[in-house]
Amino acid sequence: MSLDRTERLRELGLLPAWRLRAPGPGAQATEAPDDEADGAVPEAIDRPLAQVAVPRSAASSPCGLDWPQLEAAIRACTCCDLHQSRTQGVPGVGDRNADWLIVGEAPGAEEDRQGEPFVGQAGKLLDAMLAAIGQRRGRNVYIANVLKSRPPGNRDPRPEEVAACLPYLERQIDLIQPKIIIALGRFAAQSLLLTDTSITRLRGKVHEYRGVPLVVTYHPAYLLRNPADKAKVWEDLVLARSTLAGVVSG
Ligand code: URA
Repeated sequence: MSLDRTERLRELGLLPAWRLRAPGPGAQATEAPDDEADGAVPEAIDRPLAQVAVPRSAASSPCGLDWPQLEAAIRACTCCDLHQSRTQGVPGVGDRNADWLIVGEAPGAEEDRQGEPFVGQAGKLLDAMLAAIGQRRGRNVYIANVLKSRPPGNRDPRPEEVAACLPYLERQIDLIQPKIIIALGRFAAQSLLLTDTSITRLRGKVHEYRGVPLVVTYHPAYLLRNPADKAKVWEDLVLARSTLAGVVSG
């Protein structure tokens, strides 16, 4: 999927309806059960499942904002209905000149309370993942989510919420100019790459988002329930590290 197509779809007010999983508590960051099933997952489908008309929102124009303005806009955003149930918008945290940009799904309950991404159990595991590659939160790493507001009950994000929120992440990327992006989990990966290809198939290669190399790996919340997949995450992180080294050395 080229960036051009993504941009075109957005210009047209069309974004894909992602396949929604059953909503409910604990639904957040659950990799699809059929992700691992061979045969059950259709061949890499680089097209949306369905088209839904999405109105262009106020968040589609944060392009001129500087950091204080952007963070204030995110914290106070009312572009989708999530503002009615969340405590606050959660912009992101870390080094604004980072090489590494980590992108998760959406704030959970603790993140909603504290106003910072990945502060719960999944956050601890994320910190351990970063430590494994010699990185740490706040130094050369910036952490953000696709959605800046918590979906109630951690239900799946909806296409119109993604459409309203994505411009904020795009502005963050333009300001940070990271050298590598890691998409954590199926939802972040599929949202950024505009595909419904399973995470199993998205892992292990280098994609691109807004001209920046992007590597997909499992979400730490999934890893907490499936620790056997930590080895795969290690492979993904090594791929990201070597990709970054290639970018840096030119
Ligand atoms: N899960 C996410 O995807 N993001 C967070 O900030 C916390 C948990």
